[in-house]
Amino acid sequence: MTVPTERPEKPWQPTACILCECNCGIEVQLGGDDGRRLVRVRGDDAHPASRGYACEKPARLDFYQSGPQRLTRPLRRRPDGSFEEIDWDTAIREVAHRFAAVRDTWGGDTIFYYGGGGQGNHLPGAYGRATRAVLGSRYRSSALAQEKTGEFWVSDRMIGGFVRADFEHCEVALFVGKNPWHSHGIARARVTLKEIARDPSRCLIVIDPRVSETAELADIHLRPRPGTDAWLLAALVATIVQEGLIAGEWLAAHGAGADEVLPHLQAVPVAAYCARCGIDEGRVRETARRIARASSVASFEDLGVQMNRHSTLASYLHKLLILLTGNFGKPGTAYRPASLVPLFAGGDGGSGEGRRSPVTGSRIIGGLVACNLIPDEILTDHPKRFRAMLVESGNPAHSLADGPRMREALEALDLLVVIDVAMSETARLADYVLPVASQFEKAEATFFNFEFPHNCFHLRRALLSPPEGLFSEAELHARLVEALGAMPRDGVAALRAAWQAGRAQFRAKFFELAAAHPAMLPLGAVILFRAIGDLLPEGCAEAAALWGVCQTVAPRQRKSLARAGFAGPPPEAADALFDAMLDHPHGMVFAEDDWEECFRRIGTADGRFHLAIPELLPELDGLAIEPAHSADPEFPFVLSAGERRGYTANTIIRDPAWRKKDAAGALRMHPEDARRVGVGAGGRVRLTTRRGTALVPVELADTMMPGHVSLPNGLGVVHPGGPGGADMVGVAPNELSSGDDRDPFAGTPWHKHIPARIEAA
Ligand code: SF4
Repeated sequence: MTVPTERPEKPWQPTACILCECNCGIEVQLGGDDGRRLVRVRGDDAHPASRGYACEKPARLDFYQSGPQRLTRPLRRRPDGSFEEIDWDTAIREVAHRFAAVRDTWGGDTIFYYGGGGQGNHLPGAYGRATRAVLGSRYRSSALAQEKTGEFWVSDRMIGGFVRADFEHCEVALFVGKNPWHSHGIARARVTLKEIARDPSRCLIVIDPRVSETAELADIHLRPRPGTDAWLLAALVATIVQEGLIAGEWLAAHGAGADEVLPHLQAVPVAAYCARCGIDEGRVRETARRIARASSVASFEDLGVQMNRHSTLASYLHKLLILLTGNFGKPGTAYRPASLVPLFAGGDGGSGEGRRSPVTGSRIIGGLVACNLIPDEILTDHPKRFRAMLVESGNPAHSLADGPRMREALEALDLLVVIDVAMSETARLADYVLPVASQFEKAEATFFNFEFPHNCFHLRRALLSPPEGLFSEAELHARLVEALGAMPRDGVAALRAAWQAGRAQFRAKFFELAAAHPAMLPLGAVILFRAIGDLLPEGCAEAAALWGVCQTVAPRQRKSLARAGFAGPPPEAADALFDAMLDHPHGMVFAEDDWEECFRRIGTADGRFHLAIPELLPELDGLAIEPAHSADPEFPFVLSAGERRGYTANTIIRDPAWRKKDAAGALRMHPEDARRVGVGAGGRVRLTTRRGTALVPVELADTMMPGHVSLPNGLGVVHPGGPGGADMVGVAPNELSSGDDRDPFAGTPWHKHIPARIEAA
């Protein structure tokens, strides 16, 4: 008898990294004492977008899956403020009853929804829509509304939708306030950056006050003084206009409004603006010429400018730079990807024109209320103030500006219900906490599908069953809708029988019911989950809602789907697409495009680019007369809060031990500044802003500009027993930020430009 000497290797199972929007395909091996640990992780070669790529972060994803603050039972707040565990029937009944009471007394629009999905868990948003519909909840927001809504608004006005760019094939790559080496945002970021940097015929341009890891690879690094990006971008665009470098013929064919905007750019005093941002005029002009003469430019703006002064204007100038040089709709430039779900526009508000928040009347962009305004929508006696809140996969008490005021607002609500995996800062304030399955214990997916011309979708199957007593958000929302008396049980039964009879019968029955009961459509996700979830392949139950997504995308993206192999009449293509999603655990290509398709996707009324945004032209002109931003002598430093570093992600990993470096989240400052303050490497300083103060260790970094300091994101979360027994490690940036420091158009916060004072501690 042969005795085997080696155990067979554990199977590698496909899933995705959930630590940034890229959601790279990974494969994991499960192990540990209970077989539930993610013990080995590698990039998945079979994933069609990431193609084996993964950065260092997912190697320690088990810190998420096996986090010690995992919740396992529903919690209810007692009158004394402590929590007690309750059973699920009680939790569902009481939560449904209390939300219904708010709806029936004050109106459903006083019930505010926040979150709906973190990085890579977008299916809960689809199921949450059903609960919101039953409650009549009309207003919502998420962390996107403190980052990207300025860009969405600008893009919507100019192009009729958002754009991404083709960095794999560009001659010039431009990153504005972005460090993709750590913040990623483009597929296979480090591979692509190195390829561009190695090729002498290509050019990598970075605009960033800091010498970031991406800037170190750059051919041209422009370092504006913190907060002066708008002047630099205006100088770049104005140089192109004033030197006659715009793509005139291309603009004549595709653009509108040039006559309105060009005089404003002709009037820009380039030399003065370069002096303002502290960059030699010759370098700025050379950079503008390099962009203008390139055969293709791919460009990406990010939080360095989008959470900074003049953020919406900076987004506008950046889009002008792209469009005035004709860098759209050809390889290596900007594109409009096919989408499975219309993102950032349409739905409940579109670009926000005409729809405003109920109390402050702030612009709603992409359906989202500005995060900085949420406390003002609660802390008031206005009759339409938000009185109840459902928070799902979000942590506003930690992640939104002015943490103390945000907490005051959350505590002032009549009802706060939090759906989450772990005990977050927001959950600690809740009336009820409803725990759910982790991202690896249910089927999940992202709708951030931005590839082009081959756009990808990845339905991840559950790797594990949830711990006893837990289930997914799909099941939770189905139970809430049932408790609210809105689940059409006969319809569910009829659909279930139809599915078992055949796909054509199911489709016919679904549309027959929808025609007879239009109010059923917003509940579609939970109806589908109840009807067919348990009939889908193992680990795919939560994919039920995707059947409905496929029905809507098939007629909307008919040609793109057909090129990817999903041809035929839309209903049949939709079913084929749904089956393919279920059959491809490593991900699949759902849409294939040609570059001409980008022009057909320009979503403005006349199908042309609109170069003028009249509301922003006065702000552009105003740069010339805006007083020099002399630092307040009381707060002489500029703090950039929320830097992405090698071991920062977001607050879903709470255990500081996951960070191999920079465990305490040091304040980075220039050695010269440290010398003046009187602190050395590892020493501690007192960091004070107009809103708060914190003690923080210092890391000396000559990559920082003197006068500019930075803190990482994702720290300052509660984790009892962290290093040294501390309950909280690092500084929560929003203990230092003010809700009033925000963009006047989009309401996005200026976290990258917080006036600060630093003293040796
Ligand atoms: S780039 Fe890194 S953090 Fe982002 S999804 Fe991929 S592996 Fe995860």
